[in-house]
Amino acid sequence: MRVVQLANQGNMDLLTRRQLAVPKGVATATPLFAHSAENAWIEDAEGRRYLDFASGIGVLATGHRHPRVMKAVEEQLARFSHTAFQVMAYESYIDLAERLNALAPFSGEARTVLFTTGAEAVENAIRIARIATGRQGIVAFSGAFHGRTLLTSSLTGKVAPYKQGLGTPAADTYRLPFPVEHRGVSVEDTIKALKSLFHYEVSPSRVAAIILEPVQGEGGFNLAPPELFQALRAICDEHGILLISDEVQAGFGRTGKMFGVEHSGVEPDMITIAKSLAGGFPLSGVTGRAEVMDTVEPGGLGGTYGGSPVGCAAALAVLDVLEEEKLLPRAQEIGKQIRAAVEPLIGSGRGWPVANLRGLGAMLAFDIVTADRSPDGAGAKLVAARALERGLIVLTCGTYGETVRLLTPLTISDADLKTGLDILVESVTGYE
Ligand code: PMP
Repeated sequence: MRVVQLANQGNMDLLTRRQLAVPKGVATATPLFAHSAENAWIEDAEGRRYLDFASGIGVLATGHRHPRVMKAVEEQLARFSHTAFQVMAYESYIDLAERLNALAPFSGEARTVLFTTGAEAVENAIRIARIATGRQGIVAFSGAFHGRTLLTSSLTGKVAPYKQGLGTPAADTYRLPFPVEHRGVSVEDTIKALKSLFHYEVSPSRVAAIILEPVQGEGGFNLAPPELFQALRAICDEHGILLISDEVQAGFGRTGKMFGVEHSGVEPDMITIAKSLAGGFPLSGVTGRAEVMDTVEPGGLGGTYGGSPVGCAAALAVLDVLEEEKLLPRAQEIGKQIRAAVEPLIGSGRGWPVANLRGLGAMLAFDIVTADRSPDGAGAKLVAARALERGLIVLTCGTYGETVRLLTPLTISDADLKTGLDILVESVTGYE
């Protein structure tokens, strides 16, 4: 009886209960509660429908409940939901590893190990890098986001709210400025800072890996220019350091290529993957060069739920859908349509000032700025709130919360994309 009653409660009632039951540290971008979802649409607990340009933070390249993904999961559930790969292995894990090894940007033999969350993938990439090199040092970037576990928080390059109160960062973690054109930081500045780091702080012979996102996610969709990846590759080769591309947000077609690092032509040593890999089911992994991946002794990698059979079934279907529905070129097309809608807002004098449209493929974002072009986090928050009132979910990000980021499902129809972009433009321009 009570369950039925609660299931009918609206957003406000649920919000009140949530405040009493869940710590405030788990922030939510909207005050809404989901009831059901289909491709680019979510319906809330009160029956109102929203276009979803957040995709569960970049998880739904193939949309909510893609029929192929749902069918694969249902078939898996009819057989078994869990064995722990370390107790009794299953073929879908192997199938997925083989497919990822073939797709990943490595010219030689590759291996894949599967986990559950993005942070876990990053933790394990670092574990592998340290074991493979026998070194400790890890270099990450300002504005980076690699997760909320204690090690990944040390690699994450934004203090509030991710690192505050955590005390001393993990030992042997170092930081470089990420090149951001509109902040006046060039690739040259970054490489100079790296040389200075090696001169003053840590010998390159103590550094195991350099980790970066091909397009920074939480940090504001700043893209790593190809010259950055190329320069880092050369420095890594010179000093025996491993290069890790964190593809958790940028991977699986979002940027118009399967993996973001492919835009640079550089071959990393490992990539970390999660989010859109399994279309809404928790699955992550590390794919890397066989010589590196095979350095860890049996038992050194794994986890009870790592590579869940349900996640593997979903991921195999996601890879089929990406290919069959040609979602990589679709990402480029979506990107073009987003650019066409947002570009006219820049310098138009209409509504909130918009600047710095940037990104790759469908992974695009823009800043809301003040009249003197300073980041306007409050303005971006208001734009997102106005979009929500009009039925569109968009997320903000960036070091000052000033960036509006677009992460539409790549399966979105042209009509829904246009509806969402019209709402977005209205939310920037149509306020009193
Ligand atoms: N790396 C990147 C690039 C991410 O965007 C995220 C999540 N936003 C993570 C790692 C951490 O993933 P998770 O939240 O699944 O732990």
